[in-house]
This record gives sequence, C-alpha cells and structure tokens, in this order.
Amino acid sequence: MIDGPEVTILGAGIAGLACALACARTGRSVQVLEQAPALTEIGAGLQIAPNGGRVLNALGVRPRALESEAVHLIDGRTGRRLIRMPLGPGFRLVHRADLIAALAEAVRAAGIPVLTGIHVEAVEAASLHRGGGITVPFRRLVGADGARGPSRTFVAPDHAARFTGQVAWRAIVPVEDWPREAQIHVGPGRHLVCYPLRDGRSLNIVAVEERAEWTAAGWSQPDDPGRLRAAFADYADPIRQVLDRVEQVHVWGLMDHGLTPRWSRGPVTLIGDAAHPTLPFLAQGANLALEDAWTLAQGLDDPERWEAGRRPRVARALDAAKANAANYHLSGIKARAAHAALRLADRVRPQAMAARYAWLYEHDVTGG
Ligand SMILES: Cc1cc2nc3c(=O)[nH]c(=O)nc-3n(C[C@H](O)[C@H](O)[C@H](O)COP(=O)(O)OP(=O)(O)OC[C@H]3O[C@@H](n4cnc5c(N)ncnc54)[C@H](O)[C@@H]3O)c2cc1C
Repeated sequence: MIDGPEVTILGAGIAGLACALACARTGRSVQVLEQAPALTEIGAGLQIAPNGGRVLNALGVRPRALESEAVHLIDGRTGRRLIRMPLGPGFRLVHRADLIAALAEAVRAAGIPVLTGIHVEAVEAASLHRGGGITVPFRRLVGADGARGPSRTFVAPDHAARFTGQVAWRAIVPVEDWPREAQIHVGPGRHLVCYPLRDGRSLNIVAVEERAEWTAAGWSQPDDPGRLRAAFADYADPIRQVLDRVEQVHVWGLMDHGLTPRWSRGPVTLIGDAAHPTLPFLAQGANLALEDAWTLAQGLDDPERWEAGRRPRVARALDAAKANAANYHLSGIKARAAHAALRLADRVRPQAMAARYAWLYEHDVTGG
C-alpha cells in the first residue's frame, strides 16, 4: 500500500484546483502538484457561463467578476448590429488571474497541500517522474495538466492534434465605458471577440484569422501588434481604434485535438483540457473543466462510469464550438443570407438564439 493522500492532482489550473476542492468536500485526502513556481495565470479573460458558475457557487468560490448582459454579434466591416442576445443572470466576465486567485484561496482555506515548482516529466501507472531520478508514487492520479501535459501522453499516447487552419491573437487594452457584454465582430475568414474585465476599464480581445500554415504551439508567443491591426484593417470603428491601442499581443495556432479517445488508464484519469481541449468559439473549456472537476470527485470510485456519463455532453459542446467558427467566418452570399436571418431574429425574438443553448447553460452538475 502506497502512503500519501488518496488523490494526487497534477496541474493547478482551473480544473485541478476545482477538483481538489470538490474531492476534499467528499472527505478524500488530496494534494496538488504544479510546475509553476507560484499559482498565477496569464493576463487574459474568461467567460464563465451558468453551468460552470454553479460549480464555483457549490465550492463557495466567488471570483471578482462583471455580470455579462448580452452576447452581441456585429458585422465587423460595417459595424452594424446583427443580433444582440440578452443573457439571464449567471454569465460572468472574469480575469483568469482573479479566478485562479479565488480557487487558490479556497484550496488554502481547506488545508489542501499545493506543491509548486514540480515539473513532472512523465506519468506512469503508479508514479510520476520529476527528472533527476526522482519519482513520486501515487494511489490515484487526476491528470489536470492541460492539453500538452504528461498525463495525456500516458493515457492516450498515440492521440495527435491537427492544425485547424486558424491562428488567434490575445491582448488586453484600456477602454472607457465599454458595454457589459461579449461582442463578436464577424467577417470573412476572421472574427474578433471582446469583452470588458474587472472595473470595466480593460477590454479583453481574442482575434482569430484563417491561415494556411502554423508551427508553434502554446499561448505565449509574442507578436507584432501591427500584424493584428493589418488583419483587421477593414474593420469598422470602434474596433480599429481599440486595435490601435494594442501594445502587447500574443499569437498561437489553434489545434483541433478532438476528444481524447479515453480519459482513464489504470489509476490515472484526465479532466479539463487534458481530456478534451476545446476550441475557444463557445467559451466553454473552463466551464467544462469545472463540470469535470465536480462530477469526477463524486464518481471517483468508478471513473469509467463517470466518463461514459460525461462524454456525450462534452462531445456536443465541442461540436457546437467547431460549428461556430464556420458561422463566424462566412463570406459572400452565405454571409448576406445569414446576416439577414440574424437581423430578422434580432427584431422578432433575440432571446430565441440564446435558448438554443439551454442544454448547455441550464445544466446543473451540482444537482443544486
Ligand atoms: C483564447 C481562449 C479563450 C478562452 N476563453 C474561454 C472562455 O471564455 N470560457 C471558458 O470556459 N473557456 C475558455 N477557454 C478555454 C479555457 O481556457 C481552458 O479550457 C481551461 O483553462 C482549461 O483548464 P485546465 O485546468 O484543464 O488546463 P490548464 O489551464 O492548461 O492548466 C494545466 C495546469 O497544469 C500544469 N502543468 C502542465 N504540465 C505540467 C507538468 N508537466 N508538470 C506539472 N504541472 C504541469 C500547468 O502549469 C497548468 O497550471 C479559452 C481558451 C482560449 C485559448
């Protein structure tokens, strides 16, 4: 019998910290290992929808957030409104650092050990390898170490990702009086999502462009802001003005990983991006990670049963995200027809569009 906590969680991102809290609530002993020297996040935003927010509520985690009033689709080149879909309560705009800080504070308060500065090189059936010949045995491992972590390599060694033909930039710029809504500025072959953060004086931007080739992976490659401005040079104000203010920008290639073919191997079970990295077109990766964290903690005695229950919902969300990318990038006659339909829906029943996602947002994994 191996000593140590019942559950070891690899990765102190959103999935790992939430799962640690949820496991502790079920009375299990748990520890978290993280490669970063301290718990921080990159400077970027997240939309937390009611389905993920319910998990945060159940865990007693309340990050600093702005309520989002609507999702607003805009024709990027004319600046014309296509549809503004009002949102009910529970849609929040959060800085990632604020969410990690709130989760980390709750983990500390629960007395869960988080061991930072531990880079795991490989996962095996009963131990982790830290390099330098150091191994850490575990009884049960939750792999919350993201799309490129070693847990995924152990559980699904042959699973490869494919470049989607899209690159994304992210930036935050100062603004004044921006509406409390997520705006999606659509156009042929590219779109730009933006929403305010914190006191409403920062605007989070994610801009996506179709491009034939890409080699680098990861989130943190700096780029020349001029390239972002050039890609959206024919967009209308205020987007052009906002892009003129970008001083720092990062770019990365969007990879389609699909669903990892299996989420468990022996005592190792994947959650969050390790199990199903999502494309950002439905803003659900972190929300699904929160759902995974809660539900796995309840189903940890039978992870295969847990996986069978979760897979259909996650697959549906991933498919819906992919479909959005195509819809945002329409051109020519298809774009004109789609935009006319959206403008009509905007006049008649704008809330009907949001209702199409009731299966996603109204789901409550906490049973509250
Ligand atoms: C542009 C963009 C916008 C997005 N917007 C949204 C949104 O609005 N709403 C939403 O719900 N989702 C969004 N997402 C998705 C969301 O960011 C991810 O799905 C989510 O952060 C995944 O969390 P995770 O904890 O599973 O993985 P990660 O955040 O990747 O965390 C993994 C952790 O494991 C650690 N780790 C990795 N490897 C090792 C190792 N070898 N040894 C030790 N530790 C290791 C890492 O340091 C990290 O702390 C967006 C994604 C992108 C790219």
